[in-house]
Amino acid sequence: MANGHGNSVPRFHITWGTGPGLVAPFERRVREGVERGLVGFCLRHQVDEIITSDGRVSGVRGSLLEESNAERAVKSSREVVGEFFFSAGAVIVSSGGIGGNHDLERKNWPRDRLGEPPKNMVSGVPHHVDGRMLGITNQAGGSIINSDRMWHYTEGVKNWDPIWPQHGIRVLPGPSSFWCDAEGYRMPVSCLPGYDTLSTLSHIMQSGYDYSWFVLSQSIIEKEFALSGSEQNPDLTGKSVLKVLQRAKKGAPAQVEAFKQKGEDFIVRDTIEELVEGMNALTGENLIRLDHLRGQLEARDREIENTYTKDLQIAALRVTRNYIGDRLIRTAKPHRILDPKHRPLIAVRLNILTRKTLGGIHTDLSSRVLDTSGNAIEGLYAAGEAAGFGGGGMHGYNALEGTFLGGCIFSGRIAGRAAAEAG
Ligand SMILES: Cc1cc2nc3c(=O)[nH]c(=O)nc-3n(C[C@H](O)[C@H](O)[C@H](O)COP(=O)(O)OP(=O)(O)OC[C@H]3O[C@@H](n4cnc5c(N)ncnc54)[C@H](O)[C@@H]3O)c2cc1C
Repeated sequence: MANGHGNSVPRFHITWGTGPGLVAPFERRVREGVERGLVGFCLRHQVDEIITSDGRVSGVRGSLLEESNAERAVKSSREVVGEFFFSAGAVIVSSGGIGGNHDLERKNWPRDRLGEPPKNMVSGVPHHVDGRMLGITNQAGGSIINSDRMWHYTEGVKNWDPIWPQHGIRVLPGPSSFWCDAEGYRMPVSCLPGYDTLSTLSHIMQSGYDYSWFVLSQSIIEKEFALSGSEQNPDLTGKSVLKVLQRAKKGAPAQVEAFKQKGEDFIVRDTIEELVEGMNALTGENLIRLDHLRGQLEARDREIENTYTKDLQIAALRVTRNYIGDRLIRTAKPHRILDPKHRPLIAVRLNILTRKTLGGIHTDLSSRVLDTSGNAIEGLYAAGEAAGFGGGGMHGYNALEGTFLGGCIFSGRIAGRAAAEAG
């Protein structure tokens, strides 16, 4: 059991080989299953209904969608060209979360905790993660619980080369960027970069706007900007130790440089005057005042020389550099952001990024779907993100980075075994 800082559960976070490497062993086993006649793929089959007969779930019905060769970043066709029906001894719903469906995200938004939902968000998941099966499971009697629990990141930037519509990439920030709200007010201490996502989300939503800003220097972006996603980390995805070691080299990684040059949320300028002009032009809201932002940056910069500083962000970044790994590849040498030697200046608009659905289909410990009275529905199981990674929300309201796939794999195994035993 973890007591205090640290944790004792398996985490899939920055995995060797990233997503493709992680999926590979499972893919191999599924393909073996196909060869042995145990598994069948039904592509372009969209489930629309869970069928119940004689008091138990007995199959699914759905639409056959037309073939689609959709380009990257374009939604695949939903044109129906036929229908299908499968009868089954057991049905396991593993249809994922709701993060690709912003309307559903807004409907489920925890207004009591976070106020009104954001008008604009970027998608941290593909559009097929649409939450439709939650409603379909509900129609079959399944109870949906904790639907106001969702995990959003606060550091989303629009992908200049999107894979799916409204594709947002999360910046995994190092500790040095100056972080301010839409009006240029510096974030309070609990909202330092990479510290407390939920508290930062709450603070941003209270600001009355749905975005915030990082202001940083070229030296900070070179050392501290990591971007999530397999395409953004070709060294890890390609399992190249040599390329990973090159992260310690001077200069921004090519993927970060591409975002700096082509990303619509990035403003890169030589002077603070030009930077503020660019920030205001990007939003069209004229909320950033030059003297106000410059004054705060100068106050922050003065503390760089002060070894006894009360600026907790600067104190924290010095602590970070006590760890050799962070010192080499994650934390820039402390410097004044406005120092011309560290130019250009960079401002990054940070959007709210959808990602995980922490609530979902209510199940018991055998992954059997429960109805609103808490009784198991015969023949119906749920696993993965659709079931809040297990049970209908096993993470609670907070979530520990990298523990989601564990819940998917574990609840999938439980559901599979329980369905096989029942059959
Ligand atoms: C960019 C990104 C990074 C992530 N990083 C991490 C990480 O570092 N660590 C971690 O632990 N977790 C991470 N996660 C979360 C984790 O990857 C997901 O929670 C997990 O993959 C969900 O798996 P799943 O099988 O439950 O759902 P999905 O992988 O979403 O699969 C659901 C499937 O059901 C299909 N489907 C949906 N509705 C229907 C229907 N009506 N009919 C037929 N088929 C349907 C979908 O097309 C899809 O193929 C990340 C997620 C994303 C998107």
